[in-house]
Amino acid sequence: MSSHAHDPNCIFCKIVAGQIPSKKVYEDDELFAFHDIHPWAPVHFLIVPKAHIVSMAHVGPEHEALLGRLMALAPRLALEQGCSPYPDGGYRIVVNTGAEGGQEVHHLHVHVMGGPRPWVKG
Ligand code: 5GP
Ligand code: ZN
Repeated sequence: MSSHAHDPNCIFCKIVAGQIPSKKVYEDDELFAFHDIHPWAPVHFLIVPKAHIVSMAHVGPEHEALLGRLMALAPRLALEQGCSPYPDGGYRIVVNTGAEGGQEVHHLHVHVMGGPRPWVKG
C-alpha cells in the first residue's frame, strides 16, 4: 500500500483532523490547505490531500484525479491569498520529495509561495 487514510503519527494528518491547530485556507472532501508555520514568502501555504500519501514517490495512477484537482486548485488559492496575477506577479509551486529533495514532513504537500520580493528564502 502506498497510502492509507490516516497515520496517527503524522503531523499533517493531525492538522487535517483538527487535532493540531492551523490557519486554514481551504477545505473540501479530498483536499486541505493551510498557512505554513514558517513562511518563506509573504504568501506561503500548503495544499495536502486529506489521505495520507507519503510523498510524490508514492503516487500512482490511482492518484491522478486527486493530484489534478490539487494542482488546478493552487492558482485559484494563490490569487485568493494575495499573490498578484501572472505575468508580473505569480508564485512558486514546490513539492519536496525525499531526504535529498528536502522533504521534512512525510505527508505529500504542495508549497505555494508568492508575494513581493525579496523573500526569506526561495
Ligand atoms: P517540507 O520541507 O517537508 O517540504 O516542508 C514542510 C513544511 O511544513 C515546512 O515549510 C514547515 O514550516 C511546515 N510545517 C511543519 N510543521 C508544521 C505545523 O505544525 N504547522 C504548519 N502550519 N506548518 C508546519
Ligand atoms: Zn499524514
